[in-house]
Amino acid sequence: MNTKILIIGACGQIGTELTHRLRTIYGNENVVASDIRKLNNDVVNNGIFEVVNALDYNQIQQLVEQYQITDVYLMAALLSATAEKNPAFAWDLNMNSLFHVLNLAKAGKIKKIFWPSSIAVFGPTTPRENTPQYTIMEPTTVYGISKQTGERWCEYYNKQYGIDVRSIRYPGLISWTSEPGGGTTDYAVDIYHQALEKGKFRCFLSENTALPMMYMEDAIRATVEIMQAPAEKIKIRSSYNLSGISFTPKEIAEEIKKHIPEFKITYKSDFRQKIADSWPASIDDSSAREDWNWKHHYDMDSMTVEMLENLSK
Ligand code: NAD
Repeated sequence: MNTKILIIGACGQIGTELTHRLRTIYGNENVVASDIRKLNNDVVNNGIFEVVNALDYNQIQQLVEQYQITDVYLMAALLSATAEKNPAFAWDLNMNSLFHVLNLAKAGKIKKIFWPSSIAVFGPTTPRENTPQYTIMEPTTVYGISKQTGERWCEYYNKQYGIDVRSIRYPGLISWTSEPGGGTTDYAVDIYHQALEKGKFRCFLSENTALPMMYMEDAIRATVEIMQAPAEKIKIRSSYNLSGISFTPKEIAEEIKKHIPEFKITYKSDFRQKIADSWPASIDDSSAREDWNWKHHYDMDSMTVEMLENLSK
């Protein structure tokens, strides 16, 4: 059976690039992009696009049947900083969209699911450096609680019902094609925009706040690779730790100064500092490396060159 893909939340920071990549690999006619908002961008204009609400089971089921979908990538969610402002809605969206997709698979309507988790599943009692795959997980944000619960349900549906669901705990993702969606690591995208536009940046995290990060190109490749791996290689059915680079605001500012020597950074922490302080500084992703041969390519140096080059265009 041919792979036919539905991406839910395709207009977001990850969805935009994921849609482009999946259309390139599988062909435009085999990829249906969908989102609750219809933007005027490549996702909407350069392939099949449908408006869908991830909270509406019937709408999703109708699309799945209409296009004979086999694989669903569920990217719709409320992110960490936004979720703290609306905990009840974040819980509703993040959990029920996942249940809808898991239940479609249980009903035999789809074959495979990709659902992203996050480093937000960890909390202040988790070992911060080189955080292991299996460790203490006591998330303190509503976003983290929803991701951890989602992981438990993914594993449950896999073990109980044989659902082929695959997941990655993305670190903070850095990209130049689309805006970040309200996360705690968004500063690491904004800093490049401000460096080029204004030559200065005020950071909402303190200078020594180290967080796990990744260039979007690596994250998209990881997503495609975990979905293309033979099912028996995916031994972890909650979610895989995934690591790229780890840096502080001060370190990324120093890297930018190599290209824009007059660049200045100042620091004024806001509510997001507390969220960042509860998360790991770096991640041990040896399980992903062993099970499905994950390997990151971009470091801070090569990512900065690409970000500045592309944003200046
Ligand atoms: P985003 O906020 O940029 O995009 C989410 C998209 O979902 C948006 O286009 C939004 O319009 C859409 N959406 C929201 N509600 C919807 C609904 N009810 N129905 C249909 N679509 C809806 O988020 P992102 O950064 O692309 O993240 C995608 C996924 O990856 C999320 O699950 C997020 O938690 C996870 N993640 C992201 C990061 C990151 O750094 N970007 C890190 C870890 C995990």
